Amino acid sequence: MIREEALRLGFTDCGFSKAEPLHEDAERLRHWLEKGHHAGMEYMAGHFAKRTDPTLLVEGARTVISLLDNYYTSRKQQDPEAPVISRYAFGRDYHFVMKDKMKQLFDFIAGQFGEVRGRIFVDSAPVLERAWARNAGLGWIGKNSCLISPMAGSFVFIGEIVLDLELDETRVPVHDHCGNCTRCIDACPTGAILPDRTINAGRCISYQTIENRGEIPQELKGKFVSRVFGCDICQDVCPWNRRAREHHESGFEPVPGLLEMTRQEWYNLDRSKYERFFARSAVQRASLEKLKDNLSFIL
Ligand code: SF4
Ligand code: SF4
Repeated sequence: MIREEALRLGFTDCGFSKAEPLHEDAERLRHWLEKGHHAGMEYMAGHFAKRTDPTLLVEGARTVISLLDNYYTSRKQQDPEAPVISRYAFGRDYHFVMKDKMKQLFDFIAGQFGEVRGRIFVDSAPVLERAWARNAGLGWIGKNSCLISPMAGSFVFIGEIVLDLELDETRVPVHDHCGNCTRCIDACPTGAILPDRTINAGRCISYQTIENRGEIPQELKGKFVSRVFGCDICQDVCPWNRRAREHHESGFEPVPGLLEMTRQEWYNLDRSKYERFFARSAVQRASLEKLKDNLSFIL
């Protein structure tokens, strides 16, 4: 019933797992942090216990509901010379789009089951969203570290509702379908993909163009393949995204005029245009100044 309602609200998939500590994922996270692969994302090291145990996030937590929201579009920026932004930044900020729908789902659950306590998470708190989605049987974690849904591919946002209601698990493990494929590893222009299905953030274009508030290391000069906000390269080459379908979420529709921006217009980006295109966009995570620094870096 909850799953049906989630699909009716427009989610691509929905699964349930028991709220319990993620021991194996905790070890992988610890190792990644010890190696310093989180680069400047100090917040990743914080709240370690909460990050790996949802019962510390929500008192009495019993279930984690994982939700996928497809954002794939075949639409592209029209000027082949224009600096490239990640698909997920074409439309409205996914945090808001997903949270609106997740609140509706939460209200539906409360309407069916009476008083339910819980919290909604979309990249907003220390939650290992890919691990939960995998545990709920929604996909596997690919060599590029993305969750890959066998039916929707990896261009999906992930959200969780952690709640104190006990629900049946949907833990039907999805097998690892990466096999011998190494397309993502071969295609990554900066060699950021590590052998244990994690990413060395310090080398990843996504981190460097969005999160890094300092200078981008000069050793990465010439390797960004025109990316100025995020990077989809290791997903674009993944064979599991060949079956990705167009999303039907109006909130993810490209902001009018954004895909038509020419290279020249990108380099003339000023405050008013930045606000016009990105006022409600995930691009707000990078300030205009950061975007301009990224534009200079790829010159
Ligand atoms: S997002 Fe880009 S830079 Fe980062 S791992 Fe994937 S291909 Fe490499
Ligand atoms: S490109 Fe190949 S190895 Fe990489 S995530 Fe996709 S299937 Fe797995």
